[in-house]
Amino acid sequence: MDLYEYQGKELFRQVGIPVADGRLATTPEEARSAAAELGGRVVVKAQVLTGGRGKAGGIKLAADADEAEVYAREILGLDIRGHVVRRLWIEQASDIEREYYLSLTFDRGEKKPLYMFTTQGGMDIEQVAQKSPGALVRLHVDPLEGFNPWQARRLVYGAGVTEASEQKQIASIVGKLHDAFVRFDAMLCEINPLIVTPTGEVKALDSKFTVDDNALYRHAEVAEMRDLDATDPLEALAREKHVTYVKLDGEVGVLGNGAGLSMSTVDVVTFAGGRPANFCDLGGGGDAQGVVDALEVITRDPQVRAIFFNIFGGITRCDEVARGILQALGEMSLELPIVVRLDGTNAEEGRRILAEAAAANLRVSPTMLEAAKRAVELAA
Ligand code: GDP
Ligand code: MN
Repeated sequence: MDLYEYQGKELFRQVGIPVADGRLATTPEEARSAAAELGGRVVVKAQVLTGGRGKAGGIKLAADADEAEVYAREILGLDIRGHVVRRLWIEQASDIEREYYLSLTFDRGEKKPLYMFTTQGGMDIEQVAQKSPGALVRLHVDPLEGFNPWQARRLVYGAGVTEASEQKQIASIVGKLHDAFVRFDAMLCEINPLIVTPTGEVKALDSKFTVDDNALYRHAEVAEMRDLDATDPLEALAREKHVTYVKLDGEVGVLGNGAGLSMSTVDVVTFAGGRPANFCDLGGGGDAQGVVDALEVITRDPQVRAIFFNIFGGITRCDEVARGILQALGEMSLELPIVVRLDGTNAEEGRRILAEAAAANLRVSPTMLEAAKRAVELAA
């Protein structure tokens, strides 16, 4: 789950990472009073779950409350790379002497958290990595040993920060970023830019914070931060029904049991010349209610023209899945063609159950490739 900048900054604040004072606003009037409360110059910042807001005109420096209201009117409703701005973060403006970059994320190859730090912040980090890889200091944290203060010093010296007070402040922020990463089960904590003010203060001017969805059950306060208006309605429905679903762009609705088989199903549809509409994993169970829930989610997508059910019965029994399919069809008056491939445990009984039901839109295919070809034809 990605957090908005202001939410990430709230978590930063909780672990002691310095951030500027700010207020949330959803209307120009609110932006005005927020600016008036904060006093002085403020930055009006679009809150969207994507980066590059500055370049897209989503960040404006306002001299006073009047100007904040004007900018708020401009920015609200703006479309930034497909994200419509509905919230603004009004923040006390900071004076910037230098912009650095600091992040902590997972290096899946090394199976360890990875720090990246450079004094060339403010721009795309991918660009820094490409153009001057020497300027980017990388350092892994051993998850068993945990974080050690010497690691912060190595990052700071490695990047060539020479001023003593700056070194101390950054080293402290490096440690606190690790606290935030661990405490909130983050997948990514990024500060770009981490700024140094003309008076030598270091603080986080931006935040990018991603929390592991699988850990949200133990962070109620973070789970509540989710903006339901900003999530894909199909994926929101899937989450509500505990269906493992990812929306894709094609016409063949795909359903498998187990993540591996479901991914192969997506592949085989493509191989057969079609375009999968989604990834959907029924999981190991495949009971009737699970099938009903999954079909409800898949058929809510108006692009879907045929459904390919690919079941390999291991622990899941094919007869159980067959009954689930029939129950689902009984409950939801589905007219879309459905191609079912059943194999494995109790496959014959499953096929017999489906054949006896003699539903007009239901076809059973013996192999995965056959079934895929059939589904692709039917979706054409
Ligand atoms: P992003 O473009 O989505 O990454 O948004 P950021 O929050 O990183 O802001 C982009 C840029 O706007 C920063 O790199 C700064 O140069 C500028 N900016 C943001 N806040 C302030 C501020 O308080 N004062 C000044 N002077 N510039 C700011
Ligand atoms: Mn930024």
